Amino acid sequence: MTQILEVKGLVAGYGASPILHGLDFSVPAGGVATILGANGAGKTTTLRAVSGLIRPAGEVRFAGERIDRLSTEDIARRGIAHVPDGRGTFVHLSVEENLRLGAYTRRDPAGVARDFERVFALFPVLQQRRRQQAGTLSGGEQQMLAISRALMLRPKLLLMDEPSFGLAPLIVREIFRIMRMVNEEEGVAILLVEQNASLALELASRAYLLETGRLVVSGSADELRADDAVRRSYLGY
Ligand code: ATP
Repeated sequence: MTQILEVKGLVAGYGASPILHGLDFSVPAGGVATILGANGAGKTTTLRAVSGLIRPAGEVRFAGERIDRLSTEDIARRGIAHVPDGRGTFVHLSVEENLRLGAYTRRDPAGVARDFERVFALFPVLQQRRRQQAGTLSGGEQQMLAISRALMLRPKLLLMDEPSFGLAPLIVREIFRIMRMVNEEEGVAILLVEQNASLALELASRAYLLETGRLVVSGSADELRADDAVRRSYLGY
């Protein structure tokens, strides 16, 4: 199977000391991969290194081409959208303005207009609240807005940083249902970092376990579900 994202020997951190010590992982074209791990393992750092927010060493290939030397804007333009932890919505702007910002790299106004309709169809609540300040939305609605803003880029790959964080279980289910739909119906590949291992393994076909900056288990979602360390520490049985 071809890989939309292939990462080899990824080293990244802040300042002198690396947080990630040489990660190898990939995301299948049109597929979902997940990186599981505890607080502080380096999940957020991994996504930042892929989207260019921090400059990594090692190789990052997207659709076969090196992107590890490109700016965040060029990486976004190629089709990688990052939904950061804490959602990263602009709280003082309206829902509509946030969505418009998601499309800032695009030069096809007709396509952008169609994508407004598309995200409002996925998340009708955002249409009702299109003139409301993003900061006044509920946590679940803000996550929906963050995903929608990323979709406005028309990405080929979504980087999702703990979409379940701080949300009630029912809302988390809804968010995961929509991620599945975006993946299956629109063919958008997803790299998901999550602490909620059981949910992440339901969505992903490929999975990795990150511990203190190293991938200690890699395999299919079924293989990770069957792994003793994953079961004990992350699945609780
Ligand atoms: P969490 O779920 O808690 O966010 P994580 O797996 O996403 O955990 P990271 O946020 O990638 O982990 O953090 C990995 C390590 O990098 C931590 O030890 C953290 O303190 C450190 N770190 C994160 N951001 C910075 C920063 N801006 N400057 C310096 N160190 C940082």
